[in-house]
Amino acid sequence: MTEENTQTTPLAERAPEQVAAFLTEQRQAYDELRARGLTLDLTRGKPASAQLDLSDELLSLPRGPRDASGVDTRNYGGLEGLPELREIFGELLGVPAAQLVAGGSSSLVMMREVLTDLWVRGGVTSERPWSAEEKVTFICPVPGYDRHFTLLDWFGIETVTVPMGEDGPDVDAVAEIAAADPSVKGMWLVPTYANPTGDVTSRAVAERLVSMPTAAPDFTIMWDNAYALHHLTDEETESADVIGLAAAAGNPHRPVLFASTSKITYAGAGVAFLGGSPEVVRWYVENLGMGSIGPDKVNQLRHAQLFGSAEGVRAHMRRHRDLIAPKFAEVERVLSERLGGLGVAEWTRPTGGYFVSLDVLDGTASRVVELAREAGVALTPAGSAFPGKRDPRDRNIRIAPTFPDLPAVTEAMEAVATCVRLAAAEKLAD
Ligand code: PLP
Repeated sequence: MTEENTQTTPLAERAPEQVAAFLTEQRQAYDELRARGLTLDLTRGKPASAQLDLSDELLSLPRGPRDASGVDTRNYGGLEGLPELREIFGELLGVPAAQLVAGGSSSLVMMREVLTDLWVRGGVTSERPWSAEEKVTFICPVPGYDRHFTLLDWFGIETVTVPMGEDGPDVDAVAEIAAADPSVKGMWLVPTYANPTGDVTSRAVAERLVSMPTAAPDFTIMWDNAYALHHLTDEETESADVIGLAAAAGNPHRPVLFASTSKITYAGAGVAFLGGSPEVVRWYVENLGMGSIGPDKVNQLRHAQLFGSAEGVRAHMRRHRDLIAPKFAEVERVLSERLGGLGVAEWTRPTGGYFVSLDVLDGTASRVVELAREAGVALTPAGSAFPGKRDPRDRNIRIAPTFPDLPAVTEAMEAVATCVRLAAAEKLAD
């Protein structure tokens, strides 16, 4: 460790001339950084090529066109998806196979379909289509996934935010909002290794979400379990069984579960899943049938053959972990060495998922992203993890370390740390 790394007096507590000296140092460090002419990208949570290579056996599968029951996968039919793949992922996602649909390659498309169906037709427990309501509002735990929020915006759905915490969303706040206002029709939730915080929703929180009284009879939990299987440690956290809990609580139709193999096999050619009560699944499939005569079952069959079983998927995910855990460890090392003790940043230490959520000094996130861009390091725009891209404290930055190789992660994080230090010094010297 260098001398400055052992610096433990928080910047805000230093004398003005010390802050000024620190600012001069950071300006110099930043000028050196810019002179290096980097081109690095920490924006989107994409798998690296080495991760995609793990699934390349898919390129020579399936072994013949028929599934285990003799169905010719090349033909139309089977809107619910291939039973043998639904069995495998049903076990992994904690959903009976009969209540799990295997679809196309994108779960985000399924989320848009569900919202569209609710909008146009209404759901299993709706009194009317959502489009006939005066106003529709969604609860959004923040920071959260930017595409969830832009999708709401596209529909004209209003948003109300609640803080995301270590055990999940602030459930008291959610319960209060949902009970008070019938325009509040649902909420987003990434329950396991949330994007971007890595938080895991506990069973107790899940239980309250499915049992709380809601003013809207068709309050819908969009349970986006995109990272259910994406562990970064030996501890393979199990997601709460939201569908079972909802049934037990007498609100079986409240949650709709989503997942996909985008970050298990191929991000552009995987299989997406939707789960819910038998009635919700029937409702979804009926609406799906208006636009499809069956999914890509050849792709589903090659996925079933690649894995063979739920254990095959778990073993595959351990190989992903071996590739990406060192990148997360590197993010942690650089941030703690360069920013620890300065009191200018806090960040998450996720045990799964694809992101690290970095909170810098209030009012400096946009500046950090701008400084990084000028130094050749692309970061997700500040505010992206909030509805309307407005972070009220302008402090949150999402770091996505999976795609670059390890030396690039090191270089990019060093650069980010330099930008955080400079932005903080500018602010405190002001
Ligand atoms: N949900 C979350 C929380 C994500 O982070 C992502 C991708 O980053 C997706 C969904 C996209 O899923 P899919 O590739 O299945 O459309």
